[in-house]
Amino acid sequence: RFSTAAAIEDPLAPPVKVNYTQLLIDGKFVDSASGKTFPTLDPRTGEVIAHVQEGDAEDINRAVRAARKAFDEGPWPRMTAYERSRILLRFADLLDKHNDELAALETWDNGKPYEQAANIEIPMCSRLMRYYAGWADKIHGLIVPADGPHHVQVLHEPIGVAGQIIPWNFPLLMFAWKVGPALATGNTIVLKSAEQTPLTAFFAAKLLHEAGLPDGVLNVVSGYGPTAGAALASHMDVDKLAFTGSTDTGMIVQELAARSNLKPVTLELGGKSPFIIMDDADVDQAVELAHFALFFNQGQCCCAGSRTFVHESVYDEFVEKAKARALKRVVGDPFKKGVEQGPQIDDEQFNKVLRYIRSGVDSGATLVTGGDRAGSKGFYIQPTIFSDVKDNMAIAQDEIFGPVQSILKFKDLNEVIQRANASKYGLAAGVFTNNIDTANTLMRALRVGTVWINCFDTFDAAIPFGGYKMSGVGREKGIDSLKNYLQVKAVVSPLKNAAW
Ligand code: NAD
Repeated sequence: RFSTAAAIEDPLAPPVKVNYTQLLIDGKFVDSASGKTFPTLDPRTGEVIAHVQEGDAEDINRAVRAARKAFDEGPWPRMTAYERSRILLRFADLLDKHNDELAALETWDNGKPYEQAANIEIPMCSRLMRYYAGWADKIHGLIVPADGPHHVQVLHEPIGVAGQIIPWNFPLLMFAWKVGPALATGNTIVLKSAEQTPLTAFFAAKLLHEAGLPDGVLNVVSGYGPTAGAALASHMDVDKLAFTGSTDTGMIVQELAARSNLKPVTLELGGKSPFIIMDDADVDQAVELAHFALFFNQGQCCCAGSRTFVHESVYDEFVEKAKARALKRVVGDPFKKGVEQGPQIDDEQFNKVLRYIRSGVDSGATLVTGGDRAGSKGFYIQPTIFSDVKDNMAIAQDEIFGPVQSILKFKDLNEVIQRANASKYGLAAGVFTNNIDTANTLMRALRVGTVWINCFDTFDAAIPFGGYKMSGVGREKGIDSLKNYLQVKAVVSPLKNAAW
């Protein structure tokens, strides 16, 4: 049934070597203070790829000291914006030059299809660097016409040392979303990579230094959340925290930030995005887009269209065709050409997804296809579809983060608006219709940070991304992201001769 099942049993040798496994602090690769390491695993087999230095609170202290020094003593924040921009542009070129190597490393560590990493994700990173390089010398303050004889200026200054914590689902892309705006605005950084996927952050940080980044400006610490991550969130000398991950962890880091030094926090968290298919839609196109919206990246997308709402008049046809599409999905070794779906990231996520599948069956949803692991090794799961899903079922409420599509039936527009919004999340939504009035109504009524109309997962460096409600605080990418990394200083001085 799954056309490349054989490839699961016999994984290809990755076309890349692991060269960097140490923490990058103050421009040098170093061992962790404790001397401890942790293994990073190949999701295709569960076998160890490499042992990586395990940073903890002491390493975070070392990294923050380096970042503080680089910020306070320079040259980084006092370099011309043009010089900073040039470094980001050179970095973008190096990302392009090492595109295939970075993509192979990402696939090995994460399990995502190589073609996706090489053709979409790594190019998006270099594109994003060029976008922020373009901003570096266009950020400036204001002269404000205040009442009274005063000259009033508003300066936009870098905020200082930024702490950044990233997840495993798009390791290098999340690195880029965090690092790009922070560097363009002249900040220094301590970044903690996800413990499941530490490899590409080291490599990219090395390339940034090759591009001319001064020592101490970007420090990368690999390690676990409750040790290294918590130490970063609660550090007294970190001026700003940016986090991407689950909503539960987002609540923890926001509290740590508040209880330490009240550092401002931006959060990109989970989602349960509705994808709404109206009765005027072309069913074949709707099936294909809804399939992509959910199954892309093994279903491990914060904005995955994980509640597929289908109008009752096209519901039965949609379910049949969605099943046929899922059965055609090519699951297998992500290094193999043509593979659409690799393994889940690790056994924890693999077991969590299988538990949700059981819960879907137990709660009375109809299992249309899939429902089990694929192959016998690694963390592969069959593309799975449930129909007859009700709003109160766990599979309709919780973020599954796996290849499990839940299809729900609706009757009219007002009903689907109310049900789509009845979620603690508000990250994104998809709308599929040929009626502009329906599209406009939904676009305004949905309480989410992104609405994709007749498309899904369309990303661009210039488009802001982030969540309403418990999907997050603040926006990344675009012009909005720059504000997260800038302090605003008002400067007031008397004017001796008010007439001038
Ligand atoms: P996670 O919250 O467990 O981990 C994310 C990061 O936080 C990791 O680096 C981890 O080490 C760190 N961390 C864990 N516990 C911590 C603690 N106590 N203190 C400080 N740091 C800690 O999430 P995950 O399972 O790795 O990632 C999947 C989740 O991320 C999903 O829920 C997904 O929706 C979300 N996500 C959101 C976006 C977005 O942009 N909104 C993007 C990608 C992923």
